Amino acid sequence: MSSKILIIEDEEAIATMIKYNLEKEDFEVLTASSGEVGLNVAVANNVSLILLDWMLPNMSGIDFCKLARSRHELREVPIIMLTARSEDEDKIKSFSVGADDYITKPFSMQELIARVKAVLRRTAPMKEKGVIEFADLKVDLTTCKISRGDRYIHLGPTEYRLLQYLLKKPKHVFKREELLEKVWGANIHVELRTVDVHIRRLRKALNAGGEADIIRTVRTYGYAIDNEINQNDNQDLDE
Ligand code: CA
Repeated sequence: MSSKILIIEDEEAIATMIKYNLEKEDFEVLTASSGEVGLNVAVANNVSLILLDWMLPNMSGIDFCKLARSRHELREVPIIMLTARSEDEDKIKSFSVGADDYITKPFSMQELIARVKAVLRRTAPMKEKGVIEFADLKVDLTTCKISRGDRYIHLGPTEYRLLQYLLKKPKHVFKREELLEKVWGANIHVELRTVDVHIRRLRKALNAGGEADIIRTVRTYGYAIDNEINQNDNQDLDE
């Protein structure tokens, strides 16, 4: 069964070109020219991934992302933002509203397809089963339910994979390069800072109930899941 991809893009020429190229790769492709229409199409068709233009009439790409993440049916659907803006701040902003990747226009079709495949690969349902427990943290690999104590935690697909990878060896500090390779895939270009952005989101979600920080940061080196952190080690990491 091929993956269903939704393109939300108001520039018809761009949408058509992307659709054509994705169909050549055997993807099923749907298009919408506004966020409002896109939202309905995404829900009705159970799409596997959304390619989302940043600059849309009425509802912006950022607003769409926020809305999609607040909706139960779309919470887990990976979103790649397409944008003509290349500022780092925009990139961080798109990640902070729940996008999984970010591509700057103009891009090559080859790059776009590689990114689509990489995001689908890393957000594919996990094959492993069972429950991982560490301190008060519990991850059920079958149901993808995560909790700390009695509190259930919702994570985006990338944060989930990141957490799962870190839990392979609790207390072990994984290098950022390794996390990038294992969680994002080595064949695409993603900056190391992307790891930091997603760790920040993961940490925020894991600690949202006021629990002790469970992610150790070793500056410019890497990260570990650890329940015995000297809080000073992690200071000034979150802006
Ligand atoms: Ca546009």
